[in-house]
Amino acid sequence: MIDPDTKILGVLGNPVKHSLSPLIQNIFIKSNNINAHYYCFEIEKQDICHIIKSANALGFLGFNITMPFKEIVMSYLDEIDEDAKETGSVNTVKFYGDKKISKGFNTDGKGIIESIEKSGFGWEYSEILILGAGGAAKSAVNSILKRPVKKIFIYNRTHDRALDLFQRSGKNADNRIEVLKNLGLKKDAIKRIKMIINCTPLGMKGVYASEIPIPHNWDLKDKTVFEMVYHPFETPLIKKAKKEGAKTIKGIDMLINQAAYSFYVWFGIKPETEKVRKAVLDENR
Ligand code: NAP
Repeated sequence: MIDPDTKILGVLGNPVKHSLSPLIQNIFIKSNNINAHYYCFEIEKQDICHIIKSANALGFLGFNITMPFKEIVMSYLDEIDEDAKETGSVNTVKFYGDKKISKGFNTDGKGIIESIEKSGFGWEYSEILILGAGGAAKSAVNSILKRPVKKIFIYNRTHDRALDLFQRSGKNADNRIEVLKNLGLKKDAIKRIKMIINCTPLGMKGVYASEIPIPHNWDLKDKTVFEMVYHPFETPLIKKAKKEGAKTIKGIDMLINQAAYSFYVWFGIKPETEKVRKAVLDENR
């Protein structure tokens, strides 16, 4: 029941009505017996500054921020945490303290690492291929570099963007990043890659639905394939990976894991995720 003490949260984006965040966060809230409710707000870019200020004045607890506002929102916040600074984008905002400071966080990196570690992946001496160089790829590179990996290969359709990501990550990289001009790798090099992470929309419902982000003739046996696309839950890449005996990590798992870290930012509780996973899968069956 909503009453005057109910804490208000939500996601700001455009378009955002398809978002799974309200379903996920409201289950976390209910399961933890918290008096709060999470809404969905489709907003315009020119309104973001006064929405942040007004929501703070109205006593909102915080927000998730999604496309296309993850970068622009940073100019309107009082503080930015380390992960958000490193990736240059914010996906979670919290208003806190007597002075109602607004602070931006980015929980994608933590969601990525948790998804990978839950799969049992061993970091040591591993070679990882990251496809894409946008926001999600930045979070992946940034967080994975903090693990003892041997090499991260980055391939992006626009080569210069991959080079930008490489330069940005330089200080933590210790020569562990290599930018690829194309995916025409030799058989041995493909074999050494232990994990492939798709940070592009290829495979997503709509115009990219039938596409995969790697050459069809790559053998995925013994690899871990991490697909960030979560609509549909089973993309052509995931289907190929399963067929060839690879381990898979799905976009929906990352979505739920990064959402659990946003919940932690707001409430200081790391929620259990299995119930949410089941509900999301049931709802979208
Ligand atoms: P973004 O910042 O817009 O970056 C998109 C990336 O995909 C860029 O590197 C872009 O390459 C590449 N790309 C776009 N269209 C392509 C095409 N037709 N062929 C090859 N490459 C293409 O987006 P993002 O935030 O990084 O998100 C990327 C994907 O990850 C999306 O599908 C998003 O839904 C998903 N994601 C999932 C989660 C989750 O929790 N599961 C979280 C974040 C993102 P160019 O540089 O050449 O344009």
